[in-house]
Amino acid sequence: MLVEHNFSLENFNTFHIAEKAEMFLRIKSQSELLLAMRQAKSLDKPVCIIGGGSNILLTQPLTGIAILNELKGIQIDSETEDVILVTFASGENWHDCVMWAVDKQLSGIENLSLIPGTMGAAPIQNIGAYGVELKDVFERCECLQLDHLTTETFNAESCEFGYRDSVFKHKLKGKYFILSVTLRLKKQPALRLDYGNIKEYLADRNILDPSIKDVSDAVIAIRKSKLPDPIEIGNAGSFFKNPLIDNIHFEKLIKEFPEMPSYKNDEKYKIPAAWLIEKIGWKGFREQDYGVHQKQALVLVNYANAKGSDIFSLSERIITSVQQRFNILLEREVNIW
Ligand code: FAD
Ligand code: NAP
Repeated sequence: MLVEHNFSLENFNTFHIAEKAEMFLRIKSQSELLLAMRQAKSLDKPVCIIGGGSNILLTQPLTGIAILNELKGIQIDSETEDVILVTFASGENWHDCVMWAVDKQLSGIENLSLIPGTMGAAPIQNIGAYGVELKDVFERCECLQLDHLTTETFNAESCEFGYRDSVFKHKLKGKYFILSVTLRLKKQPALRLDYGNIKEYLADRNILDPSIKDVSDAVIAIRKSKLPDPIEIGNAGSFFKNPLIDNIHFEKLIKEFPEMPSYKNDEKYKIPAAWLIEKIGWKGFREQDYGVHQKQALVLVNYANAKGSDIFSLSERIITSVQQRFNILLEREVNIW
């Protein structure tokens, strides 16, 4: 295991922020991870876990050890007539796992096609898109407890999944390394088409009885047409979560902004954060090398050599302006380091 010192993380975060880690190493097996953790303890250094780096914003140099997760492997655990349980090592690329499932005609994660990052980060924010969330297919994850170096199993309940949220973003933040994730996939297609423009995309192509692959292809095509590719423009996807507001607040806003889109969610209303940000005029905003993407107001971007702290300050300005105009407090989805 090679330990690199003063190592630039520019190619290990999709914002392409050029902050450095005091120490950096890659782990390819659980024994390498244990070795790295023992070293960190003996040096009394904190550790940061990096998967695909697609949900982090580096705002300062990282003290301690940055561990890049390269644990690989896919294994079928068990199957019945309808359902199959598959365990994916946490360093597997998420989209490759979706393609693996689609290829085997296993249903459940096709709407989550083309989400960047690793399998191990998927439970951290209960990744979601097009009406499907990880929790819908989640069976369990195996984790290494980082203080005692013992393994523990979490089921969906103990992960406390919420909207782009889990226990790993709150009371267990930084306490566990997710080693593997087991998903429950269906052998018969159980397609979710009523979200975004999936139906429209399929109808335009005269696909009346879509397969799992048709849905995955639709999601991939729609995403490619709307979202900036982090290889071309640094970004971490949606920077903010879509806020939920109560009925009284909603009634007040909808009188003032009858065109405001909304989605009823139990007793609350979900308002697309992109609409709020665009309404104020931030969409396409650019200052030096950072800004708000021209096509998607929820995505903050690094055009070239922006600093993470500049992008963070921009996010503060957006939060303040949304709060002043709509009395809604936006919450960041991206992890700030
Ligand atoms: P990283 O950014 O490397 O890490 C994120 C956090 O998880 C960090 O705190 C890290 O320490 C922790 N972590 C990572 N791996 C582990 C592990 N094995 N054990 C413990 N902690 C760990 N998200 C969605 O939900 N839906 C979307 O549709 C979506 N679209 C996106 C589109 C684009 C273009 C981009 C850039 C991002 C998008 N995202 C989306 C956000 C992001 O892809 C997901 O949150 C993804 O799960 C992050 O994975 P990662 O491996 O890159 O995590
Ligand atoms: P979109 O289809 O233009 O829709 C705008 C917003 O409205 C979405 O954020 C979505 O909320 C919500 N929405 C749309 N149809 C809905 C329905 N039928 N019921 C309830 N809510 C609905 O969105 P988009 O920006 O192109 O993104 C498409 C999907 O990919 C969304 O699910 C989005 O979350 C996901 N995505 C996530 C990221 C990320 O980094 N987290 C980045 C890109 C795309 P939800 O976000 O709650 O689904």
